[in-house]
Amino acid sequence: LGGSITRALQQMSNATIIDEKVVSECLNEISRALLQADVQFKMVRDMQANIKRIVNPDDLAAGHNKRRIMQKAVFDELCRILDPGKPSYTPKKGKTSIIMFVGLQGSGKTTTCTKYAHYHQKKGWKPALVCADTFRAGAFDQLKQNATKAKIPFYGSYMESDPVKIAAEGVERFKQENCDLIIVDTSGRHKQEAALFEEMRQVSEATKPDLVIFVMDSSIGQAAFDQAQAFKQSVSVGAVIVTKMDGHAKGGGALSAVAATKSPVIFIGTGEHMHEFEVFDVKPFVSRLLGMGDWSGFMDKIHEVVPTDQQPELLQKLSEGSFTMRLMYEQFQNMLKMGPIGQVFSMLPGSSSELMPKGHEKESQAKIKRYMTMMDSMTNDELDSTNPKLMNESRMLRIARGSGRSVREVVDMMEEFKRLAKIWSKMKGLKIPKKGDMSAL
Ligand code: GDP
Ligand code: MG
Repeated sequence: LGGSITRALQQMSNATIIDEKVVSECLNEISRALLQADVQFKMVRDMQANIKRIVNPDDLAAGHNKRRIMQKAVFDELCRILDPGKPSYTPKKGKTSIIMFVGLQGSGKTTTCTKYAHYHQKKGWKPALVCADTFRAGAFDQLKQNATKAKIPFYGSYMESDPVKIAAEGVERFKQENCDLIIVDTSGRHKQEAALFEEMRQVSEATKPDLVIFVMDSSIGQAAFDQAQAFKQSVSVGAVIVTKMDGHAKGGGALSAVAATKSPVIFIGTGEHMHEFEVFDVKPFVSRLLGMGDWSGFMDKIHEVVPTDQQPELLQKLSEGSFTMRLMYEQFQNMLKMGPIGQVFSMLPGSSSELMPKGHEKESQAKIKRYMTMMDSMTNDELDSTNPKLMNESRMLRIARGSGRSVREVVDMMEEFKRLAKIWSKMKGLKIPKKGDMSAL
């Protein structure tokens, strides 16, 4: 996909005369690639028309970076489509919020409910899970297992077959227990059917959610718009989560979901595990959609902020792709100093928003310092290992004791390590472009 867009832009750049025909051909090629990435046909057509209006052929004349101009126009247009113009409801810690999850069966609701709960729990919230899926056998067991693993209170029943009743009871119970994030998981059935939407309407009526999140599998292709719209028509969807972004799908359906629900994407799921969950960030998402890789902006930044003499070492480490505790320690050190490498590190897609969210720099720094204290209690072998499996319970206990922190915090740090190691590993074998040739990414 990326290849064909890059090729199309290159062909246009190479053309001696840029006229409407050349621009159209280039846009047709880009459109084909976007359709393959599951962007809705109508959106692709509209985008094509918009870009023809925006991009002035004179700007594409000799001497200008035509590829850049066109790429930026497409990029901006896709970012615009992903921005519904208003933020979603944001729950507040300490105040009760009821969040209802909807989506077809298999889209990843139950998994995502737990990820969402766990994500907030790590930040000090008191989440709880309610299983209102009485349709699928084993639904309650699945939620129970997930919740137990994450140590999150849950509510459900093997006997009761009325989802509305369970949902209402669960919400009531957790309100009384002063939970601040009450998450209602629902059933999805196999296909869109009237009974499902009626059930969603009734569960919503009974629980009065502050936010309804539509969960969408990134691989559903062109079906995304109709699916999202169907849910929006029965309950007031206010946010979208796109799952399975670790697979092959580029996630173009997210644009449809945003358009159909007029709600923003708030998170993406990037794996089956609890911590494989990221705050949605529009630019890397669109980069990926266009096949530009998550790394275009990142590489630009390296050349911009890292002193030339430090670049080879950092790039070498990046391209090896192996991440160790020691490397994490060094990066933390740099981050606290906000030295150049620290800045780059905090720019890693998926890393910055999590580790140092804007407006929470103080808390984040304190957390990073705690992590470093714990790492001070690690042996050299542990610091240089690339294998988190080495960190068994007795080692974690030892580190907790040695640093005067809780085992829970050591576990959190290990999760952070795994998350960063995963991001880092994506860079393995990355061809490091030379300065001035970033557009190849
Ligand atoms: P539900 O029917 O909507 O509740 O969907 P589930 O939560 O049961 O998920 C269906 C399947 O998708 C399960 O096998 C999950 O492990 C898997 N799954 C969910 N989210 C992700 C994700 O982000 N990445 C991957 N690879 N698998 C996921
Ligand atoms: Mg489920």
